[in-house]
Amino acid sequence: MQEKKYTPLSELSGGSSDKPAKLRIAIQKSGRLYDDSVKLLNECGIELRNVKDRLKTESDTFPMEVFFLRDDDIPQYVEDGVADIGIVGENVLFEKNKKAEIVEKLGFGKCRLSLAIPRSETYQGVQSLDGKRIATSYPFLVNEFLKKNNINGEVHEISGSVEIAPGIGLADVVVDLVSSGSTLFMNGLKEVETILQSQSVLIKNNKLNKEQEILLDKLLFRIKAVKKAKRNKYVLMNAPNDKLNDIIALLPGMKSPTVLPLAETGWSSVHSVLSEDEFWEKIEQLKAAGAEGILVVPIEKMVM
Ligand code: ATP
Ligand code: ZN
Repeated sequence: MQEKKYTPLSELSGGSSDKPAKLRIAIQKSGRLYDDSVKLLNECGIELRNVKDRLKTESDTFPMEVFFLRDDDIPQYVEDGVADIGIVGENVLFEKNKKAEIVEKLGFGKCRLSLAIPRSETYQGVQSLDGKRIATSYPFLVNEFLKKNNINGEVHEISGSVEIAPGIGLADVVVDLVSSGSTLFMNGLKEVETILQSQSVLIKNNKLNKEQEILLDKLLFRIKAVKKAKRNKYVLMNAPNDKLNDIIALLPGMKSPTVLPLAETGWSSVHSVLSEDEFWEKIEQLKAAGAEGILVVPIEKMVM
């Protein structure tokens, strides 16, 4: 099985393919998703040539061509097959309502699409939106939300700076992207309803050929290893041998912890992997159980 996955691509096409297979990926040209998208590719061993002010570039280390686009255009490019895959926020993907399949959530670009009203007002529930003017850059998602709740609101599409609309009398409320909420606060607004939770996702065109599917599998394998490593830490500690059993019982490890004797008799060094969710709790328990000199080290890749 494993061997099969790495069959050279030329062999798959009988060795006579005139065009070597490659994946064309669309990522944001500049903006909030750019750095994380390029970083993720780099962490997957995909180095990019001359990214500065380019519309596209190639990688020397993976059969991949990268297109730099406005995030709003990425779903369309992927649906049309101009790009095979893309990295885009779920907010944009769902707003554009294009036929592109989500293959992996990427864990960055987290934000929410929220309804916000002037801070001086008291929110009376979704029904209170009836007849209100709603400013947003997400008309499709807002209309869906209104429909679902049986509300007649007046949706005003604005392409940027939505949060100033109520202040200048252009709208009564807004639906906008929020991460910390400080932009809303500075504009005298408060968040009262979440319409969508969003993060960046990897999407794909639904007609990839066999060779491209294999390349995508290869990329996904790497992305998963990078994501897994980010959720875990490598932990080393010293433990007196008489406490070893208690300490080992606290540690999961990938199989079981590594235990090595220290130069000082009666002591061992214990190595293990801890996941982010239980990290602090475990460290406290380990300390209480007698572990000393605990070191925590980031993991770059984790292949199971
Ligand atoms: P472009 O020029 O590509 O159209 P843009 O101005 O539409 O860029 P950015 O502000 O760079 O977009 O945001 C890109 C994406 O980052 C958003 O669509 C969303 O998925 C994500 N994001 C995360 N947090 C926030 C936030 N607080 N505000 C806006 N977008 C956010
Ligand atoms: Zn955009």
